[in-house]
Amino acid sequence: MEQVITKSKQLFEVAKEKIPGGVNSPVRAFGSVGGCPRFMEEAKGSKIYDVDGNEYIDYVCSWGPGILGHAREEVIEAVKEACGKGLTFGAPTKKEVELADLITEIMPAMEMVRLVSSGTEAVMSAIRVARGYTKRDMIIKFKGCYHGHSDGLLVKAGSAALTTAVPDSAGVPASYTSNTLVANYNDEQSVADLFANYQDKIAAIVVEPVAANMGLVLPKEGFLQFLRDITKENGALLIFDEVITGFRLGVGGATAHYGITPDLITLGKIVGGGMPIGAYGGRKDVMSVVSPLGGVYQAGTLSGNPIATTAGIETLRILKNNPEIYTLLEEKTKVLAKAAKEALGDKVCVNQIGSLMSIFFTKENVVDYATAMTADTSEYARFFNYLLERGIYTAPAQFEAMFVSDAHTKEDLEKTCDLIAAYK
Ligand SMILES: *Cc1c(COP(=O)(O)O)cnc(C)c1O
Repeated sequence: MEQVITKSKQLFEVAKEKIPGGVNSPVRAFGSVGGCPRFMEEAKGSKIYDVDGNEYIDYVCSWGPGILGHAREEVIEAVKEACGKGLTFGAPTKKEVELADLITEIMPAMEMVRLVSSGTEAVMSAIRVARGYTKRDMIIKFKGCYHGHSDGLLVKAGSAALTTAVPDSAGVPASYTSNTLVANYNDEQSVADLFANYQDKIAAIVVEPVAANMGLVLPKEGFLQFLRDITKENGALLIFDEVITGFRLGVGGATAHYGITPDLITLGKIVGGGMPIGAYGGRKDVMSVVSPLGGVYQAGTLSGNPIATTAGIETLRILKNNPEIYTLLEEKTKVLAKAAKEALGDKVCVNQIGSLMSIFFTKENVVDYATAMTADTSEYARFFNYLLERGIYTAPAQFEAMFVSDAHTKEDLEKTCDLIAAYK
């Protein structure tokens, strides 16, 4: 049966007149896969429905927050109740204390935590804290890792490996990225070289402990420990950007999974349970530089608002009290990974950990940005559209992860695996 998307097409035309590219975040425009983005109307459990009434099994899950599936009863009920009491006060609330308490209990490396409203804000603020604490300016990030859209992090590597980065977006002055150094993920030598050159100028390394924004790339054995050691030796801080991995790789995130304790952690996505929250936190002595305790300024009108915190609290409670969710998530995702490998063979590299997965259309083993870039994006586009037209919604770009949720059923997985097996 031919999929009807008339209403999405109409909306997209209007949207393009009023919103740049018709979307409020670029990847949603389907730029790298072609075709018309689906305008979504509602979602429940593992399914999402577009304005034309088409049903999709959703493996985007709002790019991560939907770990429990969409519109989980307990979360929705709690949010409704909170709404009745007012949306925002701009004053301290009990809910903020509850959420901070939950976060610090689940992630003990976060001895103190500050709530913000997005992952971008969380990482931007954590870096300011690292700079304020160490009284140093430079940071190291990794090629292919994404940490939100703040100026200093929108970079590509400079022309020579040991120079500072150049902006990767128009509108970012070169001076704003002159304190950003870029190393290669999983490449210890590239980090060591930067420390050799800029040793006492480096405030922090910021890293996605499992990289999920160049497609999914796992850290090789020992890589994160190496980052822990070299930062410690050089008086720099280690920041784990757990905006995706937090409460996803296991309730304790990558920090617990790998047993490595960073100085600061940033959170987003799941921590808000579908509402806008980000958080950053870490060692008490480090977080004590944050205003009004210390001299590092950071603020937010809607930070810690009672609606978003309610969604976060309910979501984290469910995850914390039901650890078996993570065992099931991993099993489900392994089923998908196995099916993809069997069906697509050596045309693809399938990376998977926990409920995260990527199918790269390349014969290379994808371990960093360069190997990720060997993927055939036009083949991915064909695969994506094949699935989409058959009711499977995956990331509309090769260099993104697939997300599996607690709500995905055996039937969902079977349908997905069958379709992947039939792909030509
Ligand atoms: C999504 C993401 C961000 C940015 O979070 P936003 O809420 O989109 O601002 C930062 N870091 C990582 C690792 C992310 O995946």
